[in-house]
Amino acid sequence: MTRLIRAVIDRGALQHNLTELRRRASGAKIMAVVKANAYGHGLVDVATTLGAADALAVARLDEALALRQAGISGRVVLLEGVFAQDELAEAIAHRLDIVLHDPAQLALLGASKDAQVVPLWIKLDSGMNRLGFAPDKLGEVRRHISGTAFRTAPLGLMTHLARADETAADWTRGQLARFATSAKGEALPRSIANSAGVLAWPDSHADWVRPGIALYGISPFGKDDAAAHGLRPVMQLLSTVIAIRPVRRGDAVGYGGTWVAPRDSRIAVLAGGYGDGLPRNLAGDARVSIAGQSVPVVGRVSMDMVTVDVTDATGIETGAGAVLWGADAPVEALARCAGTIPYELVCGVSQRVPRELI
Ligand SMILES: *Cc1c(COP(=O)(O)O)cnc(C)c1O
Repeated sequence: MTRLIRAVIDRGALQHNLTELRRRASGAKIMAVVKANAYGHGLVDVATTLGAADALAVARLDEALALRQAGISGRVVLLEGVFAQDELAEAIAHRLDIVLHDPAQLALLGASKDAQVVPLWIKLDSGMNRLGFAPDKLGEVRRHISGTAFRTAPLGLMTHLARADETAADWTRGQLARFATSAKGEALPRSIANSAGVLAWPDSHADWVRPGIALYGISPFGKDDAAAHGLRPVMQLLSTVIAIRPVRRGDAVGYGGTWVAPRDSRIAVLAGGYGDGLPRNLAGDARVSIAGQSVPVVGRVSMDMVTVDVTDATGIETGAGAVLWGADAPVEALARCAGTIPYELVCGVSQRVPRELI
């Protein structure tokens, strides 16, 4: 059976990016973020490939359990922690690192009789106003933990940066300062940096960095591509030309007739639409790559197909391979045309697209 569309996952690129990020954050340990099916790349395959990371991090308990079920026995950090007593028991049973960010979670700990050594991370809100205790509550939180069966647990301190991708803004300095003030005098390991922190804010590296998007070879900055940071795209979304048709000047292509040929043109129809995770709302000069040639998307993206103008390209016939995104067609550029971030595009590659490891 021919696979008209597939996501090819390059394990070598993943390992290269891990090495590169380790070099950039030298001295820090790496918590590789593999939440949301490893940003759409495939949780278990990615986790297995990232064996050299010091820990893996996920958002939810289900994701951590899937890693354990796959036989991954190293450190796994539950970034949002647990929300019920049975979840706490499961997290303990599976030796997960638990992040504490909310008084309700402290109450769960207090009610637990499990006197085991469970690594806990206390998350402080240094300015994002999403998860975390207020910086001046650290002492109180520590006293609460000491009063539970968890008092022998190793601890760490964590915070999350809201605007690390804005390299010209002062905001991140403010967050770093608030976190430093709160953690003053604490000898506990600290973790602050996401991908943008690793790449742009050396002061945020601390003891543990938590890169996600950069591991997948995607720039966190919105305005550039991963190549500018020595990173290699891990996912290639590959498609196939399923039809080619000539259209005459003045002919409209696709739903709504939104694109009208300005000249006699040659249109290639590619497998891949919003049913596969291709964004429908493309604007501007969205391009894909066919036979090494960059060609513009024209007309609306439909559920299963997308149309491109190959009038100026050569040697393209039905059956030719196309790169919807990958090294030849940066996902960052497509995200800009869709008014979104590349995170959303890779996370949105749908279930029906087979992942293929190389
Ligand atoms: C998702 C996430 C990260 C990784 O962010 P990237 O921008 O993908 O590097 C790091 N820390 C926390 C708490 C997260 O939720």
